[in-house]
Amino acid sequence: MADIIQLLPDHVANQIAAGEVVQRPASVVKELVENAVDAGATEIRLIVKDAGKTLIQVVDNGAGMTATDARLSFERHATSKIRSAEDLFSLGTKGFRGEALASIAAIAHVEMNTRPHDDEVGTRICMEGGKLTSQEVTVTAAGTSVAVKNLFFNIPARRNFLKSNQVELRHVIDEFQRVSLAHPDIQFAMYHNGNDLFTLPSSNYRQRVVNIFGSRTNEKLVPVSENTEVLKLSGFVYKPEHARKSRGEQFFFVNNRFIKSPYLHHAVVAAFEGLIREQTHPGYFLYLEIDPKSVDVNIHPTKTEIKFDDEHTLYAILRSAIKHSLGQFNIAPLLDFEKDTGLDTPYGYKDRPASAPTIEVDADFNPFRDEEGEAGIPVSPGSFSTGGGKPGNTWGRTARKEDPSGWESLYIGLGDDDEASGNFSSVEIESDEVGGTSMPGQQLFDHRQGELPSVTTYQLHRKYIVTTIKSGMVIIDQHRAHQRVLYERFLRQMTVKEGISQQLLFPIVLHYSPSDMALLSELKGSMEFIGFAIDPFRGEEITITGIPSGVSESEVSIILEQLIADFKDEIPDSSFSQTDRMAKSLGKTLAVRTGEVLNEAAQEALVNNLFACKEPGMSPFNRPTYITITVEDLEKKFL
Ligand code: ADP
Ligand code: MG
Repeated sequence: MADIIQLLPDHVANQIAAGEVVQRPASVVKELVENAVDAGATEIRLIVKDAGKTLIQVVDNGAGMTATDARLSFERHATSKIRSAEDLFSLGTKGFRGEALASIAAIAHVEMNTRPHDDEVGTRICMEGGKLTSQEVTVTAAGTSVAVKNLFFNIPARRNFLKSNQVELRHVIDEFQRVSLAHPDIQFAMYHNGNDLFTLPSSNYRQRVVNIFGSRTNEKLVPVSENTEVLKLSGFVYKPEHARKSRGEQFFFVNNRFIKSPYLHHAVVAAFEGLIREQTHPGYFLYLEIDPKSVDVNIHPTKTEIKFDDEHTLYAILRSAIKHSLGQFNIAPLLDFEKDTGLDTPYGYKDRPASAPTIEVDADFNPFRDEEGEAGIPVSPGSFSTGGGKPGNTWGRTARKEDPSGWESLYIGLGDDDEASGNFSSVEIESDEVGGTSMPGQQLFDHRQGELPSVTTYQLHRKYIVTTIKSGMVIIDQHRAHQRVLYERFLRQMTVKEGISQQLLFPIVLHYSPSDMALLSELKGSMEFIGFAIDPFRGEEITITGIPSGVSESEVSIILEQLIADFKDEIPDSSFSQTDRMAKSLGKTLAVRTGEVLNEAAQEALVNNLFACKEPGMSPFNRPTYITITVEDLEKKFL
């Protein structure tokens, strides 16, 4: 038999290795910036186009390379950082496998310009798909610039696998923040599509955090510090009241290298126990210095997880040091949370006086009038009394002139075979009467005008709305049902761009970190479609001059915070459109909560609006919105 084993050609081997090192633009950013740090740079600039899909360039003023080194740097296992396997255990540098540049060059177009400080001229090298295409002497600044263009140009499957620019940029920013937080003494800058996202002067740890996350961050920080034999700990935690819904700012650095550690994270959370609300996350920037010998340094360069010899001790030190800091800065005793968090009150509602919801019924309302003429709808019945909506707005007016099949299907096949299943006498809906264009909501408005008897609805446990149908009864989950109603409404408004804005007398000014601002600027267009009026962004400031009719002013910051949280966490990732995610997020934030009392009119409106939806049966998060119990079911129970 002939020999069949062959060595893989180099370029294939390199492509395979590249898959391990380079998953996405952010991986390239990490490798290039870390190389610049290792080269002793004091200034590092990151230039990115289209979230790194088109260009990632890192320019440093570090040591630079000779022509020979520059050429060698693209060979696999070429590294200046370790000479023997023992060196692995006392790593002062970031890289050590010498694979990054070779991997990147295998799957992109790379141009490197480099010059050692003592040399007069430098070297320019171009690589394409792992092959050297040119090498020449050039005039260039001292230090190194590496530009990576058209990532994955030769692996279309990988390129197609990349997420939206917004998601990829988020990952790039994450890597940039991690490295720059670890090295505050180095000056960093980042540009995306020609805009500066970050300009970070050389500074100390605290200033670095503030420069990255916004000037308002300073007052949120509580210093943490502990010095023991096994561990030197320093850094900051956010005061408990700044715990956020999004995971956001949670950073561990071990020996100046960003790491993830669910175990140590747990220690921090434990220190905050009782001080923050459920489902909010503490923010922290913690720097640990540990003897490198007691750390199992990653043998895989792209992994950020590491193992410690004595995790339990680290856990205990971390937890008690943070507790101590929170106590010392007099933070713990100031906090006084209400016991009943089960009701899930949005934060902004916490200290508001309780007020019974009221509803303003528009006696002039004509359901046949064009929707264009509508002034808009208060979003949440619970906020009717908070002054959000204009007089005359009626929540129930979301009822639409659309195919009512969703509503009717509820009644089809519900069991009552003997009688005409279309005759829902107990809710008095007789669609034939209005010539087939009827929608479920109409009759109810008529009821309010006193022409017909009212529908019976009943609120159970401040959570469910119960109403009768011919065949029995429907039990509606008020929160989920309202989510569905709002979700479909926002989705429609964003699609047809019809949102109605309510001008604010005093604009609302809110502050966010640069990365949150970058995210918000992506969402700005969609927000405007649903009725937000937003001034051009300035620095860390967003000025809102108009809000969707029906949203109250106090809800605005909650809405934005939830939007940021949802888009940061990438739920449910980019298989859904931005509009869809945004409508979900807004629906979630603004829907009436479990625990809110709804008056009769609001209950009725909810029932009608739900069944005017295209998919009334499911919340936007695919949970059932209602169940039905037939008389038969009941009868069985009484056997
Ligand atoms: P590693 O960082 O693991 O050594 P890389 O492939 O990232 O492997 O880089 C290979 C070598 O190229 C490095 O060891 C270093 O000597 C050199 N090098 C890479 N980037 C730079 C840079 N920005 N400045 C100076 N030298 C660099
Ligand atoms: Mg490297």
